[in-house]
Amino acid sequence: MTEKPKAIGTLEAKALISVIIPVYNEAQILRQLTQSVIQAIKACGYQHEIVFVNDGSKDDSAEILDNIANTDPCVRVLHLSRNFGHQAALQAGFTYARGDAIIVMDADLQDDPGQIPHFMEKWREGYDVVFAIRVARKENLIKRFLFSAFYRILNIISHISIPVDAGNFGLVTRQVADEMILLKDRDRYLPGLRSWVGFRQIGIKIERGNRYDARPRVSLNDLWRLSKNAIFSFSSIPLTIFYGIALLSLFVFLCLICFTLYHKFITGLAIPGWTSFLMVTSFFGAINALGIGILGEYVLRIYNQVRGRPLYIIKRKVNVH
Ligand code: UDP
Ligand code: MG
Repeated sequence: MTEKPKAIGTLEAKALISVIIPVYNEAQILRQLTQSVIQAIKACGYQHEIVFVNDGSKDDSAEILDNIANTDPCVRVLHLSRNFGHQAALQAGFTYARGDAIIVMDADLQDDPGQIPHFMEKWREGYDVVFAIRVARKENLIKRFLFSAFYRILNIISHISIPVDAGNFGLVTRQVADEMILLKDRDRYLPGLRSWVGFRQIGIKIERGNRYDARPRVSLNDLWRLSKNAIFSFSSIPLTIFYGIALLSLFVFLCLICFTLYHKFITGLAIPGWTSFLMVTSFFGAINALGIGILGEYVLRIYNQVRGRPLYIIKRKVNVH
C-alpha cells in the first residue's frame, strides 16, 4: 500500500538524515563505511550527518574518526570516556543526532548501507519507524538458533508486541527519536523501546550480511545480558511463573499428606518413602533458588535505576556544536 508522502518540509530534499554508528575497535572499516553511507543518502537527494559514537575503542578508531571528521564537517564524533556498551553508545548517538529522520546501524557492514534507500522510501510513504527484519543470518548454527529462540520467546512473553527478528538497524522520525530519548530505562534494549513508543511502524526484510572481520565486538556474555534486559524489562511473566509453581507444590504437598496418612493409619508402613521425600524436597529447593534468582534480576534492575548513574560519559566531541 503506497500512501501520499507527508506534505511537510522535513520530507523535502533539504531534510537532514542522521546515521548513528556505534564504534568499538572498527578502525579498519571506518573510511569505507563512511563513503558507503554518504553515497546511499546522497543518492536519495537528502542532506546527511553521521554521528559516530566511539565507545572507548582501543585501536586507531579514534584517530581515524577525527581525520574523517576534519575533512567532512557533516561527520560528527562523540568519544566516550570508556567502553560503555553498544546500547549506551546508541543512546549517546540519539541524544546528539539532529536529523529529521534518524538511522541506526552497526559499523561492521552486517547492516548494509545499500539498504538505507529502502528505509527512506517507507519513511516517505508516511511511516514513523522502519526497521529491518533480519532474514538469512550468516552466523553459525548455534548462534542462529539462540537468536531465533530469543526473539520468539520475547515475542510471546513481552507485554507489548516486539517484532520477531528485528534488531537495531532501522529508521525513526525526529518525533519518535525525541520520545525514545526521554525514556529513562537504564537497562536498554533498543528494539523493545522502539516498539514501546508506538506510532506507525513497519518492518522490511533485509538479509544480514557477514561481519567484515568475523570478530564480534559484542561478546556472548554481552548478548546474554542484553537478552535478560529485554526479557526482564518487557515482561513480568518470569515472576508470575511462580504462582504456577506454588500451585504445583501445593498439589504435591496434598498428595504427600494423603500418601503418608494412608500408610500411617491403614497400612502401618509409615517409614518407606524417604527417597521420594528427598527427591521432592530437593526439587522444590531448586525451584525456590530459581525463584529468588528471578526476583534478583528485577531487584538488580531497580537498584541500577535508583542509583541513576548516567548511561555514558562523553570525553570529547568533534563537529558537535
Ligand atoms: N559496539 C560498541 N560497543 C561495544 C560493542 C560493540 O559500540 O561494547 C559496536 C560495534 O563496533 C558495532 C556494533 O556495536 O558497530 C555491533 O557490534 P557487533 O557487530 O559485535 O554485534 P553483533 O552484530 O554481533 O550483534
Ligand atoms: Mg555485527
